[in-house]
Order: sequence, then C-alpha cells, then structure tokens
Amino acid sequence: MCGIVGYIGEKNCVNILVEGLKRLEYRGYDSSGIAVIYRNSLKIFKKAGKIIQMESSLPDNLNSKIGIAHTRWATHGEANDINAHPHLSQNNKFSIVHNGIIENYSVLKKKLEAEGYKFKTQTDSEVIAYLIEKNYKDDFEEAFYKALEKLEGAYGIVALCEDNPDFLMVARKGSPLILGVGNDEMFVASDVSAFLGHTKQVVYLDDYEITKIEKNNFKIKDFRLSDIARDVKLLDLDTSASDKGDYSHFMLKEIFEQPESIKRAFAGRLIENFGTAKLGGLNLTPQDLFQIERVGIYACGTSYHAGLVGSYILEELARISAYVEISSEARYKNPLIEKGTIFFAISQSGETADTLFAMREAQRKGAKVLGICNVVVSTIARESNGGVYVHSGPEIAVASTKAFTSQITVLFLYALLMGRMRDVSLQTGKKLINELKMLPEKIQTILNSVDKIDEIAVKYSKLNNYLFLGRGISYPVALEGALKLKEISYRHSEGIAAGEIKHGPIALVDEETPVIFIVPQDNTYDKTISNIEEVKARKGKIISVCFENDQKVKALSDDYIEIPETNSFLSPLLTVIPLQLFAYYTARALGCDIDKPRNLAKSVTVE
Ligand code: GLU
Repeated sequence: MCGIVGYIGEKNCVNILVEGLKRLEYRGYDSSGIAVIYRNSLKIFKKAGKIIQMESSLPDNLNSKIGIAHTRWATHGEANDINAHPHLSQNNKFSIVHNGIIENYSVLKKKLEAEGYKFKTQTDSEVIAYLIEKNYKDDFEEAFYKALEKLEGAYGIVALCEDNPDFLMVARKGSPLILGVGNDEMFVASDVSAFLGHTKQVVYLDDYEITKIEKNNFKIKDFRLSDIARDVKLLDLDTSASDKGDYSHFMLKEIFEQPESIKRAFAGRLIENFGTAKLGGLNLTPQDLFQIERVGIYACGTSYHAGLVGSYILEELARISAYVEISSEARYKNPLIEKGTIFFAISQSGETADTLFAMREAQRKGAKVLGICNVVVSTIARESNGGVYVHSGPEIAVASTKAFTSQITVLFLYALLMGRMRDVSLQTGKKLINELKMLPEKIQTILNSVDKIDEIAVKYSKLNNYLFLGRGISYPVALEGALKLKEISYRHSEGIAAGEIKHGPIALVDEETPVIFIVPQDNTYDKTISNIEEVKARKGKIISVCFENDQKVKALSDDYIEIPETNSFLSPLLTVIPLQLFAYYTARALGCDIDKPRNLAKSVTVE
C-alpha cells in the first residue's frame, strides 16, 4: 500500500525517484508525486492517476541531487491532484511524504488554523509539513523532532527542507521504511524493490526510530533521541522474478508458478522416513511442541482464508484445537491469551498493519507468535518469536494466489508435525507426504485446462452476482474464490458455507445467479450434493469444481471443472486453482485492470 522513495547523492534523482515509484506500483495507489530541489528552490509535481501521468508533467530539464517521492493510497481526502503527496508547508520551505494515518490531525489542524495557518489539502498528512515549519528556528533536524512529538497514529515520513539540501529526515512508527546504502548516495523507501537496481546494501529501520540521511552517512536515533547503532546488511534477493515474461499479467504468471512455489514451500521440510515435517524457524523443541494445547491464528483477507484452511487441518489431522481471528478484530477486543496457546501471524508482505499490531498485542500479553510470511526480513518476520517463510518468490499482482497456496502448505506441514506427535501413525504420515509430493503435478494438470475455465468464465461474465459454496475444508476455499472474483472483476460475490444457504442466502438464487460449488469427495460430499439439488430446484446456474471421476456432480452441473483426486486435507490446494483462474478470466473478459485492481493495495500498511 502506498509507497515512499527518497534519494540523496551525486546523481540526478528525478528518474531514480520515478523508477522507484514504478517498482512500488504493484502495491496499489491512486496518485503520485515527487519533490526535488531545483536551482535552490523546492519544486513539487503531483497528479492523481497513474505514475505515468505525473511523469509526463515533469519538465525535461528538471535536475536535482535530492528528492522525495510518493504513491498515495488515500485514507483522508479524495484521490485528486491537490491531496497527492508530497505536501508543502505554508512557506513552501518544507516538503513531506507520509504513509499511514495521523490520527490526531484534526485537532492539530484546528490549532494551527487558529494560529493563522491556511491549509491547502484535505489530507491528514499535510499537518506534518506545517508542524515542521512552526517549529523551525534555524535547525531542520530539531524542527522535525518537535513536529514528531505532536503526532499520534502510524507513519513512515520522509521530509525535505529547501535550505538544507544535504540531508533528509526520516521517521518510522508503524509503516515500513528501509535505507539503501550506495556509493556517495543513499536511498530510503518503503520497500527494497524501489532501489534494488542501485544497491543491495540495506539498513532496516524499526518503529520509533528517526534517521537523518546524508549521501555518505546515516544517523539513527530512538524517539528519546538516543543514538542507535545499526549494521548495514547485504540483501540476497533475486530481482528477475519481477518480470512478467510471456504472461499477459503477473496474476496469471503467479497462478502458473504454483506447481513450483508449492514445491518450494515444502522442499527441505519433509522427514520422509518418519512421515513428518521439520520447520526449523519455529525455534521450538519437541518438548515445547508437546506443551501446545491450542493454536490461534491472526490474519487478514486471503491470509485469513489460508488460516481457516489451516484450522480445519489442525483440528482434524493433529486433533489440536485451532481458531482463526481477523487481525483487525482480534487486536481491539482485548484478546484472551491462554497458557498453552501458540499463535501464528500470517501475512504475505509481513507488513500488514492489522496483523502486526495483533501480533504485538498477543506478545505483550506473553504469547509466543510465529510468523508465516513471504517477504523476507519484513517487520512481522523480524518481530515474531520464530516463523516459517513460505518462499513463494515475489508476488506482484495485488490479488494473492501463490502466497495463499504456499501458506496452506506450510500450515499443513505444521499440522503434520503436530499430528505425528499425537494420533497420526507413521503410515498415514508417509501417505500424506506422498500425496503432498504429487500435488505440483496435479496442479499442472488443472493449469493445462485453462481454456475450458476461460470459456466458462466468459459465458457467465455478463451476470452480476455470484455465490461460492463449500462445506468443511472447502468453505474457506469458497470464501477465497469469492474474494478473488470481487477483487479483480468487481462482480458481487459471496462465499458461503453450503449448509448455511437454506438459512438465508438461497433467497438470492434465480436463473441469473451462477453458484459455484466446491465439491471434492470428502465426508461432506453427500450433503453438498443435496445443496446442489436445492439450488438447481431454484434455477440457479451450477458450476462445479469436482473430481475427474465424479459423474454424479457432472450430471447435476451446467458447467464443471475437473480436478485430480487427492486427500481431503490437501484438496484446497487443488480446488482453489480453478477459482483463481475463473476470477482471472472473468476480469479479463470485463476488461479490468487485473494486476492493479481499483481501490486495492498489495501491502496493507494502514490500520
Ligand atoms: N493518510 C495519508 C493520505 O490520505 C497517507 C496515505 C498513504 O499512506 O498513502 O494522504
């Protein structure tokens, strides 16, 4: 969500900033802008819409060795040119970019207005620039500290002062910022991808830290202004993955990567002889694992659905009580942290603000929280008490696909590990591992039938309301299928536990309603067939995701998508693939911006 890039060095930074913003484009935004010092004066260029629109408004001769840039995901004030960042102070001497939300902005703004300041935007962020101006005597650094003292809420801020063209001020509290250290140049960004082309030497900033950056130096302080020493780390990242190759969209590429990404999630983590798994990053001894009585999971969106799938597997396979909570709910309800409970915080980016705060709340109460993240050294990965990387590789499309299946794979491994310490026999453990190892090939079989899924998606794409139904472990898959469709095609869709349909949602069904049933042959199979009959009796259009040999379901369906048979614990890893593709082809038929759907952000760093 929203991006920040800052530069100070020897080069002309205009292109560096614009290219950096483009690298962050996948995170989702609605406007963009840059501020630079050109011929000793602060210049700002900002525009609503795509970065390219802002870029084309830049004068050809623009030249500067220091600058800040931003992609905004509006929280306060419409997404228009004026509200776009960077913001200026009233005297035009200071400029800031901000990610996050200043919660007490209206009080601050009223006070400043009473003192005669006139604001130009509707944003919460603009007060930051005004506060710096108000506190400025002749020391920008000092004025920045003083301004921060007044702010409540979450932020990543980079500030620039016209009279001090040799440094930038940076502060972080609840919104990620990372420094990139080059030769005679320094970068700051909300995501390393913004400057990876220039340097792989990075410095991770933590919350409650303020940094002054000069082209050859950085100085970190905590909020009490005590100095903090921090090492420069060398990043070991493959940048080639941020190219979509021959695929028309990153989302399609990422769907097709799943045979490989799932393999990476379990590679090196199986102990085949003992029919179990090992997850070194958990930092738990067998004795620690043995003490665990309950698993709590915090997550949002797609990760929440993965967590739900995980809770079904944990309860049924490992016979351990498991519950999942939406992070934004959990963190405000004074969560009960019981002895014997281990927590997982699941987040693709590892920066999801709600999950991060839910994790911290649980940790504050004494709980051990393990992270399941994709982005390496992200905040959740660093602050958790241990964890497992899913190793999906960079996921660029806003709508998550391969991270979801990898999260489930990791949760399955954890359930297998716990199960083998309890009821699961060596033989069953070995069988499950064999099944797991066959999944990449089975996913490939589904991917080979994309044309049929495309055809079905196009056939129904004119209709407005979709229902996704499943029972048991297929219920979270139904939720995920519906979420994917609404995220990228903007069609209204709901995921419903199939048994619940008669308690209300069946009122929605008519001949214009496609109802997608996820119906693997597990212990709820017969009950789901009854639900298909009920929908059919009300003229709903039945689209089924079923096993290849399932003549019964096929006969009941208007359209069906076959998947290879698998064990019921693993079925979500297959049943979700056609739903991802269905959403993709529906969105494509409707001409939607698939990789960057409207209003959405990839990494949700606001609460
Ligand atoms: N709250 C600020 C705004 O609405 C910043 C949003 C962002 O993080 O992009 O302008």
